[in-house]
Amino acid sequence: MYALGIDIGGTKIALAIVTTQGTVIGQDKLATDQMIEPKEMIDTIATRAKHLLLAHNIKEDELYGIGIGAPGPLDSERGMITYPPNLPRWRNVPIVKLMATHFSVPIRLENDASAAAVAEHTFGASKDYNDSLYVTISTGIGAGIISGNTLISGSKGNAGDIGHMVIDPSFGECVCGQYGCFEHICSGTAISREVSKLKGINISTEEAFRLYETHDADIVPYLDTVIERMGMAFVSLINTLDPEIIVVGGGVSQAGDRLFKPIRQYVKRFTLNKEAGDTPIVLAKLNQEAGVIGAAALSFPLK
Ligand code: ADP
Ligand code: ZN
Repeated sequence: MYALGIDIGGTKIALAIVTTQGTVIGQDKLATDQMIEPKEMIDTIATRAKHLLLAHNIKEDELYGIGIGAPGPLDSERGMITYPPNLPRWRNVPIVKLMATHFSVPIRLENDASAAAVAEHTFGASKDYNDSLYVTISTGIGAGIISGNTLISGSKGNAGDIGHMVIDPSFGECVCGQYGCFEHICSGTAISREVSKLKGINISTEEAFRLYETHDADIVPYLDTVIERMGMAFVSLINTLDPEIIVVGGGVSQAGDRLFKPIRQYVKRFTLNKEAGDTPIVLAKLNQEAGVIGAAALSFPLK
């Protein structure tokens, strides 16, 4: 048996047929056309999905179901993408209902960070644990929560939107109107924006971490503070959710130990529950494919 995963993003949409072992046996990708009406885009996704299944000689009755991961906010109960900032035309789109006009298997929608959390939990870095948290630090910041081998999705599927948790108001106003959100301080977008201001030229987050390695006098104190703020966020998450492990994905996680070591040290120092201070904080395993594999895994019976 298989599942079909669909990962909808602001720039691309990925489709994959995934086995119950987490192996991708067929995949397809299309650009997210922001000019096209969502309904038309969904019809195209359905057509491409049917072609993909046909190309691999897989019939619909060999599918546990279809899982869709999409940017929040959404309403997983009603199967609707509601008002994601990076899909400006997608307002209250009943994607599950629209897909169900093309397929008769169960279809499930969850936010993309939840899907990635399910992927890591089922097949990746947290597969040997029952309680895990997945944090993505990329252009934005989000999380997926697994507790007792169950995805905690909240009332509408938006649980884990940790990017707008206030960490340090002195960092100024976030797009949401609050001051000092986690995402406003620690996302790739934020790091690149602030480092570019410091240096007076455009600097990417990757470059910022390279300069950090060379002990750049402007970058080191700045990034030290940002990484410390990440540590603060992780302590709060551990205290709130008591996970056995935290898996970190997203582009910025590629900075590796420059990030992980100081975060682990901070967590060890400031988590009152000493055992929780040793919570493993590790790099994601599936990364690029986590979204689409996790979307598919939403259809599998959880372990
Ligand atoms: P998206 O948010 O579109 O899914 P990514 O997860 O790839 O994209 O995240 C992109 C962000 O990650 C960018 O801000 C980019 O600069 C940053 N990034 C990518 N690679 C690295 C790296 N090796 N070190 C630090 N930051 C990185
Ligand atoms: Zn915010």
